[in-house]
Amino acid sequence: MEQKRKMNETNLIQKEPKPNLVRNKPPHLDDIYACLQCGYCNSVCPIYRETGWESLTPRGKVFLLKHLIGKDSFFDKILGKKITDYLTGRGQISLNEAMTKIYTCTLCSRCETICHVDIDFHEYWEEIRKWMVENGIKPPPNTIDMYNYIANEEYKNPFMEPLPKRDEWYRDDYQLPETADIIYFIGCMTSYHEYQLLLNTLKVFSSSGLDFTTLGTDEMCCGAINTLSGQWDNFKNIAEYNVGQIEKRGATQVVTGCPGCYRAFKKYRKFAKCNFKLLHTTEVIAELIEGEKLKFTKEFKEKNLPIVYHDPCELGRVSDYEGKGIFEAPRYILKNIPGIDNILEFPNNRMDGICCGGGGGLKALNYDLTIDITLRRIDEAIELGANTIVSACPNCKAQIGNGVEMKKEQMIDSEEKFKMKVMDVLDIAAKSL
Ligand code: SF4
Ligand code: SF4
Repeated sequence: MEQKRKMNETNLIQKEPKPNLVRNKPPHLDDIYACLQCGYCNSVCPIYRETGWESLTPRGKVFLLKHLIGKDSFFDKILGKKITDYLTGRGQISLNEAMTKIYTCTLCSRCETICHVDIDFHEYWEEIRKWMVENGIKPPPNTIDMYNYIANEEYKNPFMEPLPKRDEWYRDDYQLPETADIIYFIGCMTSYHEYQLLLNTLKVFSSSGLDFTTLGTDEMCCGAINTLSGQWDNFKNIAEYNVGQIEKRGATQVVTGCPGCYRAFKKYRKFAKCNFKLLHTTEVIAELIEGEKLKFTKEFKEKNLPIVYHDPCELGRVSDYEGKGIFEAPRYILKNIPGIDNILEFPNNRMDGICCGGGGGLKALNYDLTIDITLRRIDEAIELGANTIVSACPNCKAQIGNGVEMKKEQMIDSEEKFKMKVMDVLDIAAKSL
C-alpha cells in the first residue's frame, strides 16, 4: 500500500510539465553573456548589504541564469560542478529555489547605475520574471493570490478589500463631477491603506481649483504587481479597462501620487491607446506653485524639523531610465512650505538613492528582509539628525512607517525617546494650507 502511494506521488510529480529553459532562452541573452562577473554591482545592492549572500547579488543572479540555460562556466563544465541549493549546500538547485533567488530583489535598479557593461537592469529583472512564469516556474504564492484578487470583480485590488470601500473615505465629503479634465488615479495602496494621504491630496487639489475627478469604484488596480511578479497575461485587460474608464470621463490628464501606478500607466501605452498626459502629483503641485495658483500659509511644525527627503526608486531612478526621473518637483514643493528652510539629503540620493525596502514585490516573499533594508535607511536618517522622513510614494510611506514602529519597539527600554515621523510631500502640503 505504502509502495503504491509512493508510486502515485512519483507519477504526480512526473506529470508536472518540466520547463525546457535550455531551449526557451530568456530575453536579453546578450546581457547574460556580457556580464563580466566583475562584482561592481554587489557594492550597491541592498539585498547583498543585508544578507551577505553572493548568490543574491545581480552577478550571482546572472550566474544562476547562465546555469539555468545550460551555459555553465568553462571551469564548471570541466569540473562537473552545478549550482547548489544555497540553504543546504547540497544537490542541484531546484527551480523553486531559483525562483526565490530571482525574486529576492526590490527591483530598485541601483545595479544599473554601476554595471560595468551597462546591463539594462530596470527592465531586465521584470522580463526575466515574465520568462520564468511563461516557462511554468510559479512566482511567490502571495503574488498569485494578489493576481487573482485583482481579477476578481468583487475586489479589483490585490488586498482582497471589498470594492465599495475604495471611495468610502471621501465620497460623502467630496462631490466630484462625472467628467473632468484631470483624473486623479488614486491606486490601491493609497485607497485602502494610506487613506490620510488620499484625503490630503484631495484637500490640496480642491484648494487649488483643479478641474479633477476620480474613477471612484470604477478604478481597478493599475496592475503593477502583475508586471513585478511576471504575471503579464491579465495586464492588457487591466490597461484597457482603466484607459476606457478615463476616456469615458473625457480627461486629458491622469495624475497619480503612486510611483508604482505611474510606471504601470507608462506600460499601458504598449497595450492601449492613451490619449492623455501622465503626471505625478508632485509635478502638478510644483507647477501650481510656480504659476502662483497655490500658496502655503501655515508653518510646518518645528518639532518635526529637520526633514530628510527619500527618493522613491520608481519615481526617480527607474523613471529616469525610462526618460524622465522626478527628483526636483518634491524638493521644490518642500522648499515652498513656510518653516522648511533646509532639506537634509541622504548620502545616497537622487540617482544613487537606496530603496526603502518595499519595492519589487519582495514583501510577498521575504518581509523580514525588506524591514532590514528599511531599518538601515532609518538609521541613516537618525545619523543625519532628521526628525521626519519625507517621501512621495504611499508604498515608501507605509514601509518606512512600519520600520519606524519596529525601531520604536527595539528602543522601548532605551532612555532616548525615538520620535521619527514619516510623511508624504502631500501630507505636508495639506497641513500647510
Ligand atoms: S535591482 Fe536593486 S535589489 Fe535588485 S539586484 Fe539590482 S541593486 Fe539588488
Ligand atoms: S557590474 Fe554588471 S558586469 Fe559586473 S558583475 Fe555586476 S552585472 Fe556583471
